[in-house]
Amino acid sequence: MRTIEHWIGGGTTRADSTRTAPVWNPATGQQQAEVLLAEPVDVDLAVSTAAKAFESWSQTSLTKRTKVLFAFRELVSRHAQELAEIIADEHGKVVSDALGEVQRGLEVVEFACGIPHLLKGDYSDQVSTGVDVYGFREPLGVVAGITPFNFPVMVPMWMHPVAIACGNAFVLKPSERDPSASMLVARLWAEAGLPEGVFTVVHGDKTAVDALLDHPEVAAVSFVGSTPIARYIHQRANANGKRVQALGGAKNHAVVLPDADLGFASDHLVAAAMGSAGERCMAISAAVAVGTGADQLVDVVAAKARAVRVGPGREEASEMGPVVTAAARDRITGYVDSGEQQGATVAVDGRGLVVPGHEDGFFVGPTVLDHVTPSMDVYRDEIFGPVLSVVRASDVDEAIALINANPYGNGTAIFTSSGEAARRFQRGVQVGMIGINVPIPVPMAYYSFGGWKDSLFGQSHVHGPEGIAFYTRAKVVTARWPHVDHPIAASYHFPTTS
Ligand code: NAD
Repeated sequence: MRTIEHWIGGGTTRADSTRTAPVWNPATGQQQAEVLLAEPVDVDLAVSTAAKAFESWSQTSLTKRTKVLFAFRELVSRHAQELAEIIADEHGKVVSDALGEVQRGLEVVEFACGIPHLLKGDYSDQVSTGVDVYGFREPLGVVAGITPFNFPVMVPMWMHPVAIACGNAFVLKPSERDPSASMLVARLWAEAGLPEGVFTVVHGDKTAVDALLDHPEVAAVSFVGSTPIARYIHQRANANGKRVQALGGAKNHAVVLPDADLGFASDHLVAAAMGSAGERCMAISAAVAVGTGADQLVDVVAAKARAVRVGPGREEASEMGPVVTAAARDRITGYVDSGEQQGATVAVDGRGLVVPGHEDGFFVGPTVLDHVTPSMDVYRDEIFGPVLSVVRASDVDEAIALINANPYGNGTAIFTSSGEAARRFQRGVQVGMIGINVPIPVPMAYYSFGGWKDSLFGQSHVHGPEGIAFYTRAKVVTARWPHVDHPIAASYHFPTTS
């Protein structure tokens, strides 16, 4: 059995870890590897190695840092297919989708390649006679990233290229369910010329996470995962005096107005709900059918959902792969059971799907639930599977109110041909990322990504300008170079300008 080790100090190591977790191939249902689970002593080794590396990396010139970033960009691009196949084998998503994930991660690397421009400071000449003021930003030190299973390359790349470009040392604790992609990423950083210890991977579960949250040398924590854990991470890291951004779960609504193009909206709804088997934080999990066309919308969406080709992620014909674990499959089908019991109509039923040749794989078929109401568990909870719940509203204002009553606020979308309705929607919803005829409105890397309400704890969104601000802190210098001909008397009153 292959053992996936940590990456500390520029190479793989078991450190003192003895506990392991299984890594499954979701398409076959077989265990394919085991991953080490770090103990606090291993985390301490990782952090102290990173702290040592920070000393010189933070002093490395912007020019040299940028060269490493450009080299890393080329290497990730060259290894995109390999990364995508690793993702498909451990996560389950189809290779074409995994390639899309790598591409979106790469865009953050490209953003970080502009670090000399992004870190430019401010300068105010002659704020007082003979006095200038200037501000610039410095890195924080060792920063940690704790990431979910559903984007094993992209979500860590929301963090580490930006953190490292800013001059920090980064310790990644990836999901223990699909840990291998991070190991290739670590090798690529090393090949790109990043000094040992600046990028570290420490595998583990709650024990490793808690050790990072409590470690005095970890200055900041970036987390992406489910809402209960995000809330916990935010509280514990905050209590320990760390800077923290913790992105949580989601329940993303897509509103379909009666004036929308039905074919366009239904195609995009199905793709956004079923792509990556619904295991995306920006997946559409609730469709809000507005007005009298709801029955027709459900008919068209149901037909398209039934036509989705489900199969192993490695097979080119597959449009949707399995879900990540048997436990995830059982949780998802349990939700469909509960929706049915609570009065929803199962318009398309993905329970019990068997893919020939992959009978033990963790498959759930596309599922569409109609006549869902806000009190049902399928509506209230994040299911994180290929399940689209259809709720109904009489007009756009009722749809906006429905979205705002939901505790999550990650992403949302509207399908319409009315600019007025779209504008009312974008201004009215309490959600961080909004799509207008775009179902999965993931911001480009040079904007920041983040939700509102229970979808994000902390002040900063990730990457883009907020990412740069998160991984740096400001210094402002007030400078005077007295001239012998113009002596400046000291005074006992609080400094004022003249
Ligand atoms: P998760 O919360 O179970 O795990 C995320 C990370 O936290 C993992 O590294 C895991 O090892 C660690 N962890 C799990 N339990 C912990 C505990 N009790 N104490 C400390 N650490 C713990 O999430 P997941 O199942 O891996 O990922 C899916 C979730 O992530 C969904 O809720 C999804 O919406 C969310 N997500 C959100 C975004 C976003 O941008 N808001 C992006 C991707 C995923």
